[in-house]
Amino acid sequence: MDLKTNHTAPVITDPVPIGKSRLGVHSSLLPYSPPGAVFSSNLFLTIPRKKTGILDDIRSSTWLDAMKSSSPPHKRINKDYNNELASPDVDVAYRAWMLKFPSALGSFDRITNFAKGKRIALFLDYDGTLSPIVDNPDCAFMHNAMRKAVKMVAKYFPTAIISGRSRDKVYEFVGLKELYYAGSHGMDIMGPVRQSNDHPNCIKSTDKQGKEVNLFQPASEFLPMINEVFSSLVENTKEIAGAKVENNKFCVSVHYRNVDEKSWTTVAQCVNDVIKDYPRLRLSHGRKVLEVRPVIDWDKGKAVTFLLESLGLSDSEDVLPIYVGDDRTDEDAFKVLREGTYGYGILVSSMPKESNAFYSLKDTTEVMEFLRSLVAWKKSSAL
Ligand SMILES: [Mg+2]
Repeated sequence: MDLKTNHTAPVITDPVPIGKSRLGVHSSLLPYSPPGAVFSSNLFLTIPRKKTGILDDIRSSTWLDAMKSSSPPHKRINKDYNNELASPDVDVAYRAWMLKFPSALGSFDRITNFAKGKRIALFLDYDGTLSPIVDNPDCAFMHNAMRKAVKMVAKYFPTAIISGRSRDKVYEFVGLKELYYAGSHGMDIMGPVRQSNDHPNCIKSTDKQGKEVNLFQPASEFLPMINEVFSSLVENTKEIAGAKVENNKFCVSVHYRNVDEKSWTTVAQCVNDVIKDYPRLRLSHGRKVLEVRPVIDWDKGKAVTFLLESLGLSDSEDVLPIYVGDDRTDEDAFKVLREGTYGYGILVSSMPKESNAFYSLKDTTEVMEFLRSLVAWKKSSAL
C-alpha cells in the first residue's frame, strides 16, 4: 500500500487490483472468488498534507469525513455477530463479502491441505485481533482463554505478535515468553539471534529472561524526535476531554475514541500544530486514532519478511506464513504474503472491507477458534 503523502485527494484510496493481485498467485492458495465482486472501501485513509508537511484545511468536511470513515461506530466493532447482522442489508452485504474473503474456519480444510508438509509461521496483530477494541486503550486486556490458545499455538508453530503498540506494552498485555514481539508497527523487533545477521540497525541484546536476542530498530534515530513530539502532544491535548496520547516508542498515537465528535477538529488542530514543524514525520488514521510515525520505508509487511529471515524461514517453499490482523496497517503484511504468493492473510472484520487478505474471521472469538483448530490439526496430523 502506498502510504506516501497525497497532495490532492483527501482520502487515499488504494484499491486492491483485484484481477492483478490474483494473477501469479499459486492457484491452490486462492479461496473461491466470484468474478466481478467489487466492494467500496474506507480502509485506506490518510490525512492530506502539503509539501510543507502542513495539513490541508483540517476543518474541511473532507478531512472530518476521513476521521469518521476510519472510525466505524464502536458497536459495529464489538457487537455480537448475530446482533450486528440483524439488519437484512448488513447481512446480505456481509455474506456477499464473504464470497470474496471466505471464513478461515469454513475454509480450514483447504488451508490445512495446502499446509501439508509445510512449516506454518504465524503472525498475529494484537488490538482487535487477540483483544477486543475497548474504550480505554490501556485496558485492552487479552482474555485468559485467548492467552492459552496463543501459548498452545506457539508451542507448535513459530509465532510472532506484530503490533502498533510499543513492544514492552504488547508484551505486558500478552505475557508469553514463547513468542517473538514486534512493536511500533514493526519498527521495534525482538527476534532470534542469527549467526549471519548483518542487517543495519540490528544489534544483539538480551530479553527479559536474559536470553540472547537480536534487536532490530530501523527508526532508532527518530527516538528523540518521537519523545519530543509525544510531550508536545500531551501538553497540547490536555484540555480536550477524553483525548489520550500514547507513546509507542517509535510512533505516537492520539486516541480520540472518547472525545466528543464536536471536538474532533480540535484534536486535529492540536496534532497539526505540533507536527507541522516535523517534515520527517507523517500522520495517518487508524480506528479513532491519529498516528504520528517516522517517514521510513518500513511497515508490518517488511517486519514479516524480516522475521521470516530471522527465523530461517524465508526463501523456502515448505513454509506457509499466516498473518491475522484487523487494521489498515496489517494490509502491508497481507500484501507481502499475497504478492510473495506463499502465504495467507486473514482479515478480522465483522463488516465488509476491501483487503489484501485471502480469508476472514469475524471477531476475536473466531480468531481463538482458528488458533485452537490449528493446534488440534497439528496434534492429529502428528499421530
Ligand atoms: Mg489491530
